[in-house]
Amino acid sequence: MNIPPIMEVGGILISSEILTERFCCDYEKCKGICCVEGDAGAPVTQEEIAGIEDALDTVWGDLSASAQSVIDKQGVAYADKDGDLVTSIVRGRDCVFTCYDGDNCLCALERAYRNGQTSFCKPISCALYPIREKNFGNGLIGLNYHRWAVCKDAVIKGKELDIPVYQFLKEPLIRRFGTEWYNELCEVATSLGL
Ligand code: SF4
Repeated sequence: MNIPPIMEVGGILISSEILTERFCCDYEKCKGICCVEGDAGAPVTQEEIAGIEDALDTVWGDLSASAQSVIDKQGVAYADKDGDLVTSIVRGRDCVFTCYDGDNCLCALERAYRNGQTSFCKPISCALYPIREKNFGNGLIGLNYHRWAVCKDAVIKGKELDIPVYQFLKEPLIRRFGTEWYNELCEVATSLGL
C-alpha cells in the first residue's frame, strides 16, 4: 500500500515514520545519554515549569553543584535561540536534572516521581522522544520522528522486537493526546496494514 509521508489523525499532522519506523530504548547500551548530549534543554511549557519548580526542593540534593548554580542564576528553564522555553542546561549540553546511578544517566525529576516523592514526572517532550512535537500556530500540531545517532541501539532493538515508534510511546502519547486519539492512530496504522 502507498503510505503518504504525512497524514492527519484527529486534527494532528503526523509523519508516517511514526508508524513505519521501529524503536525501543536500549538503556544498557545508551546509558540514557539523551539527558546529557545535545546543545539545548528539553522543550517545556509554562505549566511544566511550575511542576518542576514544585519538585525542585525534593530533587535539589540529587543535582550537581554546577546544575544548582545554573538554576540559582537563571531558573529551571530559559528561552532558546528560537524563543522556545527549554530546561536549563550545564556547560551548554547536559540537562540540569541529570543525575547518575553508576554509568547510567537518570532524570532526577522522573526518579523522584517514581519513588512517590513528587507529583510531576518529567516534561512531556522528554517522554515523547524520539517523537518531536512542532507547533504551527493556530492550534495546529505536527509530530515528527527525530533521528539521533545516540539512539542507534534503540533502532536496532526496535527492529529486533518489531516495535513501531507509536507503540513504544503508547503511554506518553496517551498522556499528551488522550486514549481516544491514540486509538484512532492505531486504527490508521491497521488500515494501512502496518
Ligand atoms: S531516547 Fe535514545 S539516548 Fe535516550 S534512553 Fe532512549 S535510546 Fe537512549
